[in-house]
Formats: sequence, C-alpha cells, structure tokens
Amino acid sequence: MSDTDVTPSTDTPTFDQFGLHADILKAITDSGYTTPTPIQAQAIPVVLAGRDVMGAAQTGTGKTASFSLPIIQRLLPQASTSASPARHPVRALILTPTRELADQVAANVQAYAKHTSLRSAVVFGGVDMNPQSAELRRGVEILIATPGRLLDHVQQKTANLGQVQMLVLDEADRMLDMGFLPDLQRILNLLPKERQTLLFSATFSGEIKKLAATYLRNPQTIEVARSNSTATNVTQVVYEVAEGDKTGAVVKLIRDRGLKQVIVFCNSKIGASRLARSLERDGVVATAIHGDRTQNERMQALDAFKRGEIEALVATDVAARGLDIVELPAVINFDLPWNPEDYVHRIGRTGRAGASGDALSLCSPNERKQLADIEKLIKRPLEVQHLHVDVPVRHHHEERGGRRERDERPARRRTAGAGGTFERPHHHRHAAPPVDDFFLKPYEPSPSTKKQDDAAVAPQKPASRQPLAALLGGLGMPRKTTST
Ligand code: AMP
Repeated sequence: MSDTDVTPSTDTPTFDQFGLHADILKAITDSGYTTPTPIQAQAIPVVLAGRDVMGAAQTGTGKTASFSLPIIQRLLPQASTSASPARHPVRALILTPTRELADQVAANVQAYAKHTSLRSAVVFGGVDMNPQSAELRRGVEILIATPGRLLDHVQQKTANLGQVQMLVLDEADRMLDMGFLPDLQRILNLLPKERQTLLFSATFSGEIKKLAATYLRNPQTIEVARSNSTATNVTQVVYEVAEGDKTGAVVKLIRDRGLKQVIVFCNSKIGASRLARSLERDGVVATAIHGDRTQNERMQALDAFKRGEIEALVATDVAARGLDIVELPAVINFDLPWNPEDYVHRIGRTGRAGASGDALSLCSPNERKQLADIEKLIKRPLEVQHLHVDVPVRHHHEERGGRRERDERPARRRTAGAGGTFERPHHHRHAAPPVDDFFLKPYEPSPSTKKQDDAAVAPQKPASRQPLAALLGGLGMPRKTTST
C-alpha cells in the first residue's frame, strides 16, 4: 500500500457495495486497497450513475481511483477482445496538466483495468511521438494525455476524439494556471456533446466555475477536505534569512535535522537548477526536477529520489504537482511561492498517511508579502524563527546575479516562448485573452504578448483565489456532498 492521507470512510466500508465488476474488485485487492477513501465513497456511485461531477480534491486523497474505477466499470460492456483498432476507439479521455501526473494516472488506470480487455495509453510532450502514435493506432479505450501533445496527435490524425463518452479534467485549476485554457477549449470542441464530464480541482476560482458552467451539465459537487491528521502532523516553521544565506540555510536544515529525503521548492527553473548544483557542491546529493529537464531526466530523478538515492529533490511547483512520494519527512520552501495556494500544495507533500512531517520555509525580507498572503489563506499565523547560517557556502543570489528568476510561474505570467521542453500550451504563443472574457467568445490570440513578457520579469501578485475545499484539514471544514 502506498502513502496517502486517506481516511477510511465510515459510510462505505467496502468496495463491494459499489457493484463493481469482479475483475475490477480483483485489481483493487491487488493494489492493496481495503477501504474506499472519502472521495471514492462519494464519487464512485455518482460517476457510476452517469452524473457530471465537480470534485474538490487534491492528489493524495485517492481521487484517481475515484474516477478511474467507475470509468472502467462503465466502459466494460463495450470492452472487446478483438484485435481490430476499430473496436477500441477512445471512449474515455483523462486530461492532466503535467507529464508526471499523466504518467501516474496512467499507471493507476492500467493497474485497475489489468484484468479486463480495456486498453489504456498515455501521451505527453517531451518524448518521441512515434511510439505513442503506434499505440494509438492499435486502439485504446482510455486515453490519458496532457493537452498540448493530445492536440498534436489530433492534428496528425493519430487520435480521434469523436467517440469520447467520458471526460476527466484532472487538476483543472493547474491546467488553467498553466495557460491551457485555449487548448482545453479546442479539445472540448472536438468531443461529442453527449458525454459525462468530471472536473477535479483543488481550488475553485471564478475561472474554474466558468469552465464548469460552460462544459458540465448539472454536476454534483463533491468536496473532500484533506484529513485532519495531515495538517496537525505537519509542523510548519518559517525561518527568516537573508536571500544570500538561503543555500546555506538549506544545507544547515538538511544536516541539523538529518533529513535523508526532502523536496526543496524553488519558484523558477533556473533557480532550481542552480540550487541543486550548489547543494551538490556542499555535499548534499541533489537533483533538480523542472520543465526544462527532458521527460526521461525527470522520471530518472524522481525514481532515484523514490529509491532514496537522492537526498534533496529541488523542484518547481509545476514539476512537483501531483507527485506521490511515500513517507516524505520534510519539504523546504527555498522561495515562498507567489501563489499562496502553492504553499498548501507544497506542504501537502509531507506528513502523509498520518506520519509527521516538517514544512520549513525560508523567508527573506522581500518575501514578507508572500508570507502574509499564505497566512491569510490558511487563516493562521506561522511561527517565524531566526536561522543563523554559519556555513560559508556559495551564495545562491551571487550565482544568479541577484536577479530573481520567475520563469516557472504560471504560463500566463511567463515570457511567451520560454520554457524549453516544458509541456506548455503551444497553440497560443501570444498571450491568453483576459480571464473574464474567455468563456464568452472563442479563443483569439491577443496582441498583448509584450505585456506578458513584462510580467515575467517584474514580480507580480497572482490573482487571489477562493479555496472551495478546506485545503488544510486543520481548518476543520467538514466534508460534504451537495447537489448543484
Ligand atoms: P491519488 O490521490 O489518486 O493520487 O492517490 C494517492 C495514493 O493513494 C495513491 O498512491 C493510491 O495508490 C493510494 N490509494 C488510492 N485509493 C486508496 C485506497 N482506497 N486505499 C489505500 N490507498 C489508496
């Protein structure tokens, strides 16, 4: 069994009660699951009934199975043992913002469908298209994809979405943050109108609500807070340090606390690479994981980290989103995130499965505003301590010439065209249109690229968002199910 902050549901004690096919139940048993998680207990019956769902749940709650299991069940009557590709059209499409999440979801779907004749495949950017094309040509019923690469396949006619009956928008908030809205709209326009749509998001901004209002039909809202144990088990400390002492502070925290495995979050890709190199020079086994690394490099880094061969995985928010890493004892925020919700996502990487965890944040004098935004979001002050850094290590800010790099901020705030191999929206090099208009008219590239360029250099306050779910179980929000 893997890590998860899932809490066994008292309402639905067994998977048997959902009426799932024996082949699916067998796969569930193989996975080691005995009890449905709260999101599974709530979502599975609703999805089985064919309803649209608006689910407020983060990675770590068991949400992948909450949509995958009923999708498999609903597709089973159409499962075919025929070798003919025509008998295996894409019937369920699962869209995710990042390659890593796509890969994780695909691994889960494959495990849950392994005793059936349903086929699944995953496509994402940054890797050769040909093997993906070959797999798609053979036919798959369940396709997991990142939006950009999926559109490439549609364009090359290796993916046909005309028979999709079920659509999942996984981590929809992150997809919008990454500027995927135009791609999503293009994809949605290719799908049959008659379909079931499931939207999962950790937060529900006005944009997400508009997306749901436009593309979902009478959805059932399912909201699951992270379990209380997560929040209470995570010790959050903020250390006041000068920007130039941050690398030394990370080394000190790792050494003083004897941390064997830690994710260190940076706000930029360049910052992450440089910090990983600095840590290595200071004797910490470190590697960076971000959008400019190739997919293989990212997977290798992640695997090495999971095997315990790497002490510090230095990551950007985009790359780390949705990662499921067992028993992570601590996370360190090298930079405080611009988006306070990213703080919640970051610290959710530790203290899982009831284990205790430390969320350690470095705050330089020019990050006080971000700290205040975080405290406002989580509705409580964070303990601030002074950290004396005596190790004379290479100063991180010297390496980057004192300039703060912000190139891994959400795409709409990034320089157009930046990002290397990062899975980014590629059909709208020009800036996204103003947020409020985009549901009212078809996507049109706007001439405001210049504005975006400026925004990528000048630190900018992110749009404030309203969390729907209690992002931290410690807020004491009860879970509830409501019909909308
Ligand atoms: P997810 O939120 O879908 O990323 O799932 C988080 C982790 O929980 C994954 O490692 C799953 O394999 C695991 N998981 C999902 N459902 C269950 C369950 N019912 N019991 C135990 N673990 C689960």
